[in-house]
Amino acid sequence: MASEMGTIVTTHFINGEWTLPGGPTFPVVNPFNGELVAEAAAGGATEAAAAVAAAAASFPAWADMTPGARQRLFLRAADIVERRTEELVHLMAVEGGASRAFSTFQIRLSAAMLRQAASWGYLPAGDVLRSDTPGRIAMVTRKPLGVVAGFTPWNGAFYLAWRTFLLPMAFGNTTVIKPSELAPRSAGLIHAEILEEAGFPAGSFNVVTHAPGEAASIADVFFESPAVRCINFTGSDKTARILGERAGRALKRMVLELGGFNPVIILEDADLAESIRAVTFGAFLHQGQVCMNSRKVYVARSIHDEFVSGLADRVRALKMGDPTDPEVIIGPLIDDRAVDQIEVRVRDALDRGATLVTGGTREGRVYAPTILTHVPPDAICTTGADETFGPLLVVDQFDDPEVALRDAQDTPYGLSASIMTRDRARGLEMAQRFDAGIVHVNAPTMASEAALPVGGVKDSGWGRSGYYAVEDFTELRMTTMSSEPGRYPF
Ligand code: NAD
Repeated sequence: MASEMGTIVTTHFINGEWTLPGGPTFPVVNPFNGELVAEAAAGGATEAAAAVAAAAASFPAWADMTPGARQRLFLRAADIVERRTEELVHLMAVEGGASRAFSTFQIRLSAAMLRQAASWGYLPAGDVLRSDTPGRIAMVTRKPLGVVAGFTPWNGAFYLAWRTFLLPMAFGNTTVIKPSELAPRSAGLIHAEILEEAGFPAGSFNVVTHAPGEAASIADVFFESPAVRCINFTGSDKTARILGERAGRALKRMVLELGGFNPVIILEDADLAESIRAVTFGAFLHQGQVCMNSRKVYVARSIHDEFVSGLADRVRALKMGDPTDPEVIIGPLIDDRAVDQIEVRVRDALDRGATLVTGGTREGRVYAPTILTHVPPDAICTTGADETFGPLLVVDQFDDPEVALRDAQDTPYGLSASIMTRDRARGLEMAQRFDAGIVHVNAPTMASEAALPVGGVKDSGWGRSGYYAVEDFTELRMTTMSSEPGRYPF
């Protein structure tokens, strides 16, 4: 990374080195005020091929590194993340519009995940199995795949990029990351700085950035290179469908972490104050631009009005504006397209007769957190057919919790859901019947922890974070050893 006349100019990170500035670049702008944040290198197939070659060359040594040596690197990286907190908070605000509440949440999760991953090298690497053949034993061992190529999104970019890098690397793979063009530093380059400082070996992780609309040439290299054994994708289901078709043709393993609709069901006996706090946080953290944000709440009819009024009061109190102000909770949406999507969907619902409880206004790209009730079932924002990626929450009411449970699952997505009730056994029983990757009882849909396996079902993708990612980023090798001559039929 270089600085020219005060402007940050970022370059690619390939084989342990920052490439030289001077090639084509593209502007990265602050979504709040449109100011230039950085000029980033606009790479393509050449850089991607060099990065894949570097990752492939470093793979044998990284895969064979002792657990203790790898552990020291991860622990050092966790300390660096914490030491650089203030700089990271600022970066996430100016590049992605993240509030301090959201960036510090990501920093905590990132450091925790690094520290947990540091110990995984010591966990059992497989099993010894009994065989029906006399004198034979069999071993099943987990082996890393090779090079894992990652696509990172712009939202929650700092934590999610760690997930893209770190999980494969913890199991012995090397990586190449293609960060989102909207946030190239917080979605990959800053991680390269941290891992470089921590002393990770050259080539074990590589980052290649690209201008808007230029992702395809890098993706081509990932799909066509035999060294790349897995594509680790976090982003929208729309992009996943494009890349998934390519993965199918190339017969490449693909891990998909996609969007969600994330309903909350609030039963009659729920703690109302806690439900209001959980929904405010779950729906409006990062102004509704996280895959696990709650999009729709189903509330028991008897408590609906009290819930909506309490929720609206709390939501109206959220400070909006420039996320570099530590008091601000609601910053800007990432770009004009995102603002347009919310405006169109709010207008669509209101035109169909919905009630606007609060919000529905904008100042620049800051869209006020918005709550709608009495939304007709055909309004785009309530069908669950398409993720609304912004600060828009629909509140519905029910008489029969069984109907709410059924309706809340009537969506192609299946990422996260919440059930609020004082009857914990009932909540648990309902949670077991919910078709989603994550179901919380008495917590927001956004209740992430580094050790817990986050991931979806249905159109929310597949793959899990935490140690469970071992399934995604390793393969099994079965080895047998016979100590007696075999018995052969011919
Ligand atoms: P996106 O799908 O637009 O982009 C994701 C990545 O794919 C970026 O790196 C982008 O550059 C790349 N990409 C986009 N089009 C491409 C193409 N044609 N060829 C190759 N690469 C391409 O998603 P986004 O807007 O960056 O992120 C928001 C989406 O991600 C939301 O749907 C959100 O729910 C989802 N998400 C899911 C999780 C999860 O863990 N489940 C986490 C964060 C975000």
